[in-house]
Amino acid sequence: MDHVTSETFDANARAALTNSQLRGALKNATSLFGKRRLAAARSVSNWEDLRSQARHIKDETLLHLDKYLEQFTAQAEAAGAQIHWARDAAEANNIVKDLAQKRQARLVVKSKSMTTEEIHLNDALEAVGVEALETDLGEYIIQLAGETPSHIIAPAIHKTRFQIADLFVEKLGIAPTDDIVMLTATARRVLRQKFAVADIGISGVNFAVAETGTILILENEGNIRLTTSLPKTHIAVMGIEKVIPRFSDLEVFLKLLPRSGTGQHLTSYQSLITGTKRTADREGPEELHIILLDNGRSKMLANPTTRQSLACIRCGACLNACPVYQQIGGHAYGSVYPGPIGAVITPQLIGLKKTSQLPYASSLCGACREVCPVKIDIPELLLYLRAEITERPEVRDQRSETVKQKPGERLAFKVWAGIMTRPRLYEFSAGFGRLLQGFITRGGRIGKVGGLIGRMAPPLAAWTSARDLRPIEAKSFRQQWRSAGRS
Ligand code: SF4
Repeated sequence: MDHVTSETFDANARAALTNSQLRGALKNATSLFGKRRLAAARSVSNWEDLRSQARHIKDETLLHLDKYLEQFTAQAEAAGAQIHWARDAAEANNIVKDLAQKRQARLVVKSKSMTTEEIHLNDALEAVGVEALETDLGEYIIQLAGETPSHIIAPAIHKTRFQIADLFVEKLGIAPTDDIVMLTATARRVLRQKFAVADIGISGVNFAVAETGTILILENEGNIRLTTSLPKTHIAVMGIEKVIPRFSDLEVFLKLLPRSGTGQHLTSYQSLITGTKRTADREGPEELHIILLDNGRSKMLANPTTRQSLACIRCGACLNACPVYQQIGGHAYGSVYPGPIGAVITPQLIGLKKTSQLPYASSLCGACREVCPVKIDIPELLLYLRAEITERPEVRDQRSETVKQKPGERLAFKVWAGIMTRPRLYEFSAGFGRLLQGFITRGGRIGKVGGLIGRMAPPLAAWTSARDLRPIEAKSFRQQWRSAGRS
C-alpha cells in the first residue's frame, strides 16, 4: 500500500478539526447512519444472537482458512471461474494488468471495492494506458474530485451537496444546480454510456461461499449488476478472509451487514455469481477471474490476538460510532482504511513504522466494539498494537519524533499519572477540582451539574477548543457509594 500519510496523522487530524464544513458534513452523516443502524438492529429480535453466530462462523473459517479457500477454489473453477492467487498488491495488479493487456482493453468499469483501493489498482491500470472508471456514485464523485474515499461504505461522506454540485458544474459542464435528483441523473447518464462500451468489469466481493464457489456482492445502485454482467470479462478482487463455509451462512451476514452499514434491512441488489454465463444468449460475462489477495493477511491470521481483525465485514459501523472519526473524517488517517478498524488493520498490513500514530487515534471508549456486528474487540487490538510500539525502540523513537508532545503536556500527563495511582491524592484532587471548575471556565455552559464546559481559560483552552468537557459531578462516586451505605 503506497500513498500512505499516516505518519502525519497528528497534523492531519489538527487540520481536519479546523475545517468546519467537513465536521458539519460528518456530524450529519454519522449521526444519521448511527440512528438508522440502531432502528434496523431493533427490527430483529435476535440481534445479539446473530452477532454471536457471525463471529462464530468467522472464527471457524479463519481457523481452517486453508481448507475453505481450497474448497472455494475447486467449486468456483468447476463453475467456470478462473482463480488467481496474489501474495501482495504488486502481484494482484500485475494479474489485472496482464488480463487487460491481453484483451487490449482501453476502458474498465469498476464497482466500489476497498480491496482494489488497498492495492491502488486504478493507478496501476492508468500506468499501462487503461482507464479505470468508478461507477458507484460516491466513488465517481471522489474520482472526479481527484480524492480518495473517506469512509468504507460512503466514500464521499465528507462532501456536502453544494460541493458536489460545484464539482459537477466544473467537471461535467452542467448548468449550476444543487438539486440532488438532477445531480444523480447526470452521473447516471454519463456512466450508462460507459457500461455499454467497457472492455472489462472489475468488482470486489462481500462474501465467497466455499460450498458452492459463489461470490456475493451487495449494492444499492445497480452499477454492480451492470459492471459484472455487461462487459465480456469480469474480474473480482477479494481478500482471502472473505470466504465463508456454507451458503446458509449468508442468512446471518445478510441480516447483519446492511443493518450495520446503512441501516437497511436489505440492500437493493444482492448479486450472487457462480461461474460464467451458462449459455451464449444469457447475460453475464464469458470470463470470470477471481483474484485471492493475501497482502499481509496471512501474518494477521498467524497471530491469535490479531486474527480477529480478519473477521471484519467492512460495514463501516465502527467509523460512524467513533468519536474520533466523527470529528476528523477518513482522510486524516492517511490510509485506505480509516476509523477504528483502519487504525487496527493498516499497521498490520503495512507495518508499524509508517503507521505508529494510528493505534493512538482512539479514546478507547469502546463504542466501536459495541456496534461491531462481528464483535471485534477493537480496543483490545489497539492496546496490543500500542504495546508493540512501546516494545520496539525503532518504532517508539520514530513515533516520538513525529508526535511532538509539548513540555507542558508531558508534565500534565506525569501529574495525572501520579494522581491516578494514589487513591487519597485522587480524592483530594477531585474535591479541589470541583471547587475550582467554576473559575476556570470562560463563557462556558457550566453552571449546574450535567451541563457541559464549552470553553476553559488558557492554558486549558486547548482541551476545549475542539470538544466539550463534562464537569466533575457534585458528589464523587466514592461519596455516593458511601451514602448508599456501602463501605
Ligand atoms: S470492525 Fe466491525 S464495525 Fe468496523 S467495519 Fe469491520 S465489521 Fe464493521
